[in-house]
Amino acid sequence: MKRRILICNDDGIYSPGIAALAKVAARFGDVRIVAPDVEQSSMGAAITSSRPLRYRRTALPGDFEAYRVNGTPADCVALGVYQWSRVDVVLSGINLGPNLGSACWHSGTLAAAKQAALFGLRGIAFSTAVTLQETEPDFVSLEPFVEQVLQQLLEEKGMCLVNVNLPDKPKGIRWTRQAVKQYDGDVVPGKDPFKRPIYWFTVKPLQGEEEGTDRWAFARHFVSITPLRLDLTDEKELARALVRPRQVSAVKARSGVPGGAAKKAGRPQ
Ligand code: MN
Repeated sequence: MKRRILICNDDGIYSPGIAALAKVAARFGDVRIVAPDVEQSSMGAAITSSRPLRYRRTALPGDFEAYRVNGTPADCVALGVYQWSRVDVVLSGINLGPNLGSACWHSGTLAAAKQAALFGLRGIAFSTAVTLQETEPDFVSLEPFVEQVLQQLLEEKGMCLVNVNLPDKPKGIRWTRQAVKQYDGDVVPGKDPFKRPIYWFTVKPLQGEEEGTDRWAFARHFVSITPLRLDLTDEKELARALVRPRQVSAVKARSGVPGGAAKKAGRPQ
């Protein structure tokens, strides 16, 4: 049986990035595109729970079976998996702009891959560089790298969630970890035409990269592949909290019942 590859993004179904990804992915199995009808960048893993969703057939160049959804990237993956049984892997992108370091928290591109992992499937996100002039990335020159990455990752058995960033004119491929020590989110104030204050929550360029991180590889023109995980538990802090007997007895004493109301209510102790 041929591999079933569901393709999503956060730039919207008409983005050139999704067409480029579908073109390469078709060499590895059957492809179906399910993507937002309008841009949903920076929506993270949001889902639409307050209104119903539509799933509409959409004609795209390349003759791919494609559907547009009036929702978020995570919604698209949910509907895509619902409408097409036996999906093997979800690919997301190729995003017009990198998703490196702490940007991973906001990225809709990565969130689509994350939604696949939440369903027990595999998810791989692809993002690439854009210039300040916003000229379209050279997807033809990136194609061999996307193919090489897919060749490698689709063979993997584990790695349920992977974040891939493709720089302009890549020199090679590197395994990396997420850069977490810096954050580029910044509030920039301005004025509207009536001189009232407005604000942009935007991204400012960061200087310096830690060796071995996604930002480090990307800045050196290497394709960055970062395996991620869903479990956000801070194991070190949890281990520290679990060996604090005195705090537990303090909660018991306050609750008035030995063994504790807190315990019955299922509250953390
Ligand atoms: Mn985007």
